[in-house]
Amino acid sequence: MTDRQYDVIVVGGGLVGAALALALDAAGKRVALLEGSQAAFGDLEQGWDARIYAISPANRAFLQRLDAWPGSERLGVIAAMDVRGDNGGRIEFAASDADAEALAWIAENRWLLAALWRRLAESGVTCLRGARPRALATSPLTARMELDDGRQLSAALVAGADGANSWVREQAGLSASVKPYGHSGVVANFACRLPHGDIARQWFLGEGILAWLPMAGNRISMVWSTSDPQALLELSAPALAARVAAAGGHALGELELLTPPAAFPLRLIQPDAVVAERVALLGDAAHTVHPLAGQGVNLGFQDAEQLAALLAGSRDAGDWMLLRRYQRQRREAVKTMQLGCDGLFQLFHSTLPGVPWLRNAGLSLTNRLRPLKRQLARHAIGY
Ligand SMILES: Cc1cc2nc3c(=O)[nH]c(=O)nc-3n(C[C@H](O)[C@H](O)[C@H](O)COP(=O)(O)OP(=O)(O)OC[C@H]3O[C@@H](n4cnc5c(N)ncnc54)[C@H](O)[C@@H]3O)c2cc1C
Repeated sequence: MTDRQYDVIVVGGGLVGAALALALDAAGKRVALLEGSQAAFGDLEQGWDARIYAISPANRAFLQRLDAWPGSERLGVIAAMDVRGDNGGRIEFAASDADAEALAWIAENRWLLAALWRRLAESGVTCLRGARPRALATSPLTARMELDDGRQLSAALVAGADGANSWVREQAGLSASVKPYGHSGVVANFACRLPHGDIARQWFLGEGILAWLPMAGNRISMVWSTSDPQALLELSAPALAARVAAAGGHALGELELLTPPAAFPLRLIQPDAVVAERVALLGDAAHTVHPLAGQGVNLGFQDAEQLAALLAGSRDAGDWMLLRRYQRQRREAVKTMQLGCDGLFQLFHSTLPGVPWLRNAGLSLTNRLRPLKRQLARHAIGY
């Protein structure tokens, strides 16, 4: 017998940690959720958020099961994708290629977060906001944590969902290889003159990768992976809108800036292991990927769903065999996504002789092969 207060302490109440806490609560576990920031739902549900996610059908179903899927008036749909290379290459595929309703749904970060925290307020989860851990000690039977304000917590498992610079990862001694891309993702929302037709558009520009994602109404969200973010951030609103419209070949006519642009440094983070004694990592704490495939948070939601499913029937949520199973289960999916995104990034930034021709020819060839396109569409959906 032990004196543990909780089955699981989740550190980090971002999208992934909040989803895990709800899923574990639904499975009847005693859960504490620690979130360093104090933002209230009211603050979250203001205006348009430039940080948006393409949520896969599998993760939409997961969030719906948690009753934490935001209202439909805020959601965009990706019915098709149109991807262009830097030298005439092009591939287009649609949800219908995979006999599906949509490739993904576009949701804003703040509204997704608000939906999750609204549910948390009604759940049995002990939510500690504005709380940060100061120390973590584990033994074969228990994880003990001391908070900044001196409170002591104990649990069978500490789940680190505290983002790319994870404190839990560091405390657990889980080292990670960190590879900066030398690029930042510049995000901003725009109103567009022409209807986007629920099509996500992406351009491999040679010096960067530009994506326009369809939002509700005549709006798009941009993610521009570039080595010179400052050159975009410095522009006036009309100049930035004109620059982005031109980079996308004026595919949607004139653009008008709706949210100030923001830039995030892009890094590939790969820990050697995502579990340690009485500790498991998930979300960006466990992996980051280049946003060119828009899969970062999707991988994190799958971590949360699969970890919660593994722990659901367990008597000891920190059982080492279970943690090893979680690590094994997630390794393949995460590695495939990291290698795929990294490979594409390298391929489209290579200036080696012949490579620029090859990558464009490859796109166009794939575009003519129906079975391969079907496979791509199924992959985008997450089959
Ligand atoms: C430019 C850009 C575009 C992106 N686009 C997409 C996209 O289209 N689709 C997609 O799927 N992904 C995308 N991503 C990735 C996505 O943002 C992340 O994968 C996702 O936010 C990870 O969620 P998380 O909950 O793991 O971590 P975070 O969102 O980083 O949340 C961590 C939480 O932990 C809290 N915290 C941190 N440390 C502590 C501590 N010590 N104590 C208590 N609390 C703590 C933080 O306050 C925060 O709330 C993009 C990323 C970038 C940079």
